[in-house]
Amino acid sequence: MISQPIDKPTLEALRAALDDAERIVILTHMSPDGDAIGSSTAMQRLLLALGKEARIVIPDMLPGQLRRVPGAKEAVDATRYPDFARQLIDGADLLLCFDFNEPGRIGRLATALTEATATKVLIDHHLHPADFADVVISHPELSSTCYLLFKVLCGLELFGLIDNKIAESILTGMMTDTGNFSYNASDPELYLVVAELMRKGADKERIYREQFETHSLDSMRLNAYAISERMEVWPDCGAALITLTRDELNRFHYAKGDTEGLVNRPLAVPGVVYSAFLREEDDFVKVSMRSVGDFPVNILCREHFGGGGHLNAAGGEFRGTLAEAADLFRSLLNTNKEKYIH
Ligand code: 5GP
Ligand code: MN
Repeated sequence: MISQPIDKPTLEALRAALDDAERIVILTHMSPDGDAIGSSTAMQRLLLALGKEARIVIPDMLPGQLRRVPGAKEAVDATRYPDFARQLIDGADLLLCFDFNEPGRIGRLATALTEATATKVLIDHHLHPADFADVVISHPELSSTCYLLFKVLCGLELFGLIDNKIAESILTGMMTDTGNFSYNASDPELYLVVAELMRKGADKERIYREQFETHSLDSMRLNAYAISERMEVWPDCGAALITLTRDELNRFHYAKGDTEGLVNRPLAVPGVVYSAFLREEDDFVKVSMRSVGDFPVNILCREHFGGGGHLNAAGGEFRGTLAEAADLFRSLLNTNKEKYIH
């Protein structure tokens, strides 16, 4: 038996929202990852099986490897089709929000979400959900929204509708949000769910190969360059930093997703307990941080780098130059050491 963390009234409220809805739009966060796309596509396919009209609207483009997730290619990219995206959201009677905790995380779609009159449901595992949804299913103790969705579907007695494609979507998010079950993966029940999904026909090894072991030559070289030339390590402060400028990214024909996982790599160096990756964008610096143990990168991102996230995985958008962001990170090394490293 898989345990059920969602209380009965909440499940009933979700059931009623689904029963009442005809036109459903699924929304997920900017720079969608495996968990965002996995949970969205799984839910869409399930809703189609229930005879509902259901579309996925994403704020920006999918990275290449996520286009292999069943149903992902049909998601409406609001960057390319802003009017159509808005029209779908405005016309929906139910909005399902997956894998984000506040409207700001869906970027250009935030206004459409806040202004919408449709019923709103949040299904997410980030800390501190903002108060914008009518039904809130928020479980930060679970490692992925996909894992949570599996429990939601069991709670709604829809397990029987999970087919091999839905199973693959769910498994994708469970794998990508835990680094293929290498962190946030100590809950034994995770593996019961994996077993169920494999029984449903999910090909775990193919998903692993597609999501973790498929890189373009440019991307491999970019990551190798970043580690070899652009990584600073301060073992005494437990810290590491990688920065990449626009020019460097261009030199390796950077495409979205090419530096996925790079921020984790310095954590392999003994003594490093937190790591930051700063990537220069057109008008801001994309910040990504990871840690091991109890070093709170979410606090660091929230207080200094325009973002937030989880204890061990956080990010933000820094308004300033890459050099300023890097200097700020370096200037905080000693304070961080005193405050958080014992
Ligand atoms: P990533 O480093 O993979 O982009 O993001 C890791 C985690 O950090 C995400 O799951 C999310 O919780 C958080 N995060 C990333 N970027 C931002 C941001 O711009 N704002 C906030 N609030 N959180 C972010
Ligand atoms: Mn997630």
